[in-house]
Amino acid sequence: MEYKSFIGGAWEETSASTPNINPSDTSDILGHAAVSEAADMDRAIDAAHTAAVQWAASTPQQRFDVLDFIANEILARKAELGELLSREEGKTLPEGIGEAARAGQIFKFFAGETLRQTGDHLASVRPGIDVDVTRSPVGVVGLITPWNFPIAIPAWKIAPALAFGNAVVLKPAELVPGCAHALADIISRSGLPEGVFNLVFGRGSKVGPQLIGSNKVNAISFTGSVPTGRGIAAECGQLLKKVQLEMGGKNPMVVLDDADLDIAVDASLNGAFFSTGQRCTASSRLVVTEGIHDKFVAALEEKMTALNVGHALRSDTQIGPVVDANQLQQDLDYVDIAAKEGSKVVGGQRLNRDTEGFFMAPALVTETTNGMRINQEEVFGPVASVIRVKDYDEALAVANDTEFGLSSGICTTSLKHASHFKAHAEAGMVMVNLPTAGVDYHVPFGGTKGSSFGSREQGAYAAEFYTTVKTAYTLP
Ligand code: ADP
Repeated sequence: MEYKSFIGGAWEETSASTPNINPSDTSDILGHAAVSEAADMDRAIDAAHTAAVQWAASTPQQRFDVLDFIANEILARKAELGELLSREEGKTLPEGIGEAARAGQIFKFFAGETLRQTGDHLASVRPGIDVDVTRSPVGVVGLITPWNFPIAIPAWKIAPALAFGNAVVLKPAELVPGCAHALADIISRSGLPEGVFNLVFGRGSKVGPQLIGSNKVNAISFTGSVPTGRGIAAECGQLLKKVQLEMGGKNPMVVLDDADLDIAVDASLNGAFFSTGQRCTASSRLVVTEGIHDKFVAALEEKMTALNVGHALRSDTQIGPVVDANQLQQDLDYVDIAAKEGSKVVGGQRLNRDTEGFFMAPALVTETTNGMRINQEEVFGPVASVIRVKDYDEALAVANDTEFGLSSGICTTSLKHASHFKAHAEAGMVMVNLPTAGVDYHVPFGGTKGSSFGSREQGAYAAEFYTTVKTAYTLP
């Protein structure tokens, strides 16, 4: 399979390509992705710039029809797309199919949003004058996406971009070209005018700066690592360009003495280790009060060590491989760092399976303090640590003592503590008796502090980023 860039309505080959390697079995090459260059990116931007005017003038019905077509095809093919996703990214098949379905649901939601326009018609404070407040498209939006949700994240940026009348240039992550290509293929048959949606493969460090720096690109939405995000924010600040960033997390899951132990263990197991811990919302710091600490650690350890790690497409696999060799090394390094910092580690070793893949046993790190590197830096793998605290007040302070603020969880049967935590957790998302990861598609997603920058993604709030508010005064 050749994954070509899609520029101005045409599929484009490049002389260079990179292999798309299955992390469960490195002998399985799914295809080869084009390596586009800065000049290709320029052509994609030009195509989007030219097409933006036409799409901005499209009717809500035209936008609805395009988004609904994309949604229907994704949902009809969710099993096949989910398998492709699991094969190239390594999450288990149910997780892959779930993510594909979610991408379809996101397009459904934004198909609906095309018809639900909002605006205000008001009287002026001056006599005889009317005031209208409306939303216009931003223009051309550059979308830069990571590898960990290869179809859902592109979907939750593309769908609102198109719904609100913008033209798009998508730069997906190098590791997951298959899902981006499949999505572009569906979009190419949706009735969208040529040039409104463009896909450019290639190295982030080569084609990314071109996208961010172009004066024909009006806004950038990025999901990825903190250092890349900071660089993009600085550049966009200099250019006075609208920017939205979703980056890391070091999400706390507080477990109080009065928690239902089974709920707390299951929420932590899911939040910390499912999707191989490769979620920015992963529950990586388990902040546990002393009365329940030992029981909780014992129960979680037992369930964690029973998890079946293996090939993502096997039906008995619960945890797939790590995405690639670099990420695996980073995960193993952090397990080492935690041990050297004086904590106790269960699991965390490299595993061999009957295929050559990046398999790692989930790791639980106990006897840690919040100041340790393992509790301050994002690992992005199946590694969670436990911090013992005295009571709720200390738990809240520890939960908030981080540079990140994406998702924050608490397991408790106390309404008082749950309510206080919802109000005082320094995070964009708060979960009560639920894992920190796993969110709905119709409500806003995003964080505070070092996790996010700019307005929220998803749900009706996505309009803030993908539109510009215009105030018009008329003297009839
Ligand atoms: P991750 O660790 O998730 O790969 P990155 O921030 O490196 O995080 O990558 C996220 C996305 O940003 C990818 O699509 C990548 O190609 C892109 N990217 C990497 N470097 C740059 C850059 N300098 N400018 C723009 N995009 C970049």
